[in-house]
Amino acid sequence: MSKTSAENPSDPNVGALASGLAPSGVDQPRIERAVREILAAIGEDPDREGLRDTPGRVARMYAEMFRGLHEDPRDVLRKFFTEKYDEVVLVRDIEFHSMCEHHMLPFMGKAHIGYMPSGKVIGLSKLARVVEVVARRPQVQERMTETIADLVMQELSARGVAVVIEATHTCMTIRGVRKPGSMCVTSAMKGIFRSNLSSREEIMTLIYGGRK
Ligand SMILES: [Zn+2]
Repeated sequence: MSKTSAENPSDPNVGALASGLAPSGVDQPRIERAVREILAAIGEDPDREGLRDTPGRVARMYAEMFRGLHEDPRDVLRKFFTEKYDEVVLVRDIEFHSMCEHHMLPFMGKAHIGYMPSGKVIGLSKLARVVEVVARRPQVQERMTETIADLVMQELSARGVAVVIEATHTCMTIRGVRKPGSMCVTSAMKGIFRSNLSSREEIMTLIYGGRK
């Protein structure tokens, strides 16, 4: 049992996040061993001074980057409230950082989430929290977009959900084809935003309105 869960037997994750320690669920000693092995494999000396603490640092960083694997975004969405509001709700420019599962390199950008409620409304910060949980996992942008849209659609029983994500992928900018500044845009449309063209146009205008 880890130190954090011993201190907070009721909820190890809450205690871990509050204290700034890595949450449980990620095997940090195992990551340390693996990073040491990678350093040796590229021809480095893992014991030289500058690298001595690197495996531990990377392990703590990965525990943070991948903590979303051990959290359920549905817990966030269950904190909805009942409201007779039935117009579009849009949260734009939710910043996120994620990790591309193909290269284990970061990709980062902004998510925009719009939905048409049918009785269930969620606090705006909760949508940002959902993005955070889903982003802190090994990801591909397309799946991340679909996952967020499906979660909001299901948990809020919304009439429609639109998710647009714009991101830059360091696996495209620092290696391979090296296309700095290129932006990858993905979108997922559910319910009314999928079936009704004018609703889709409305939400896209709201998302992109006021730009350019
Ligand atoms: Zn990649």
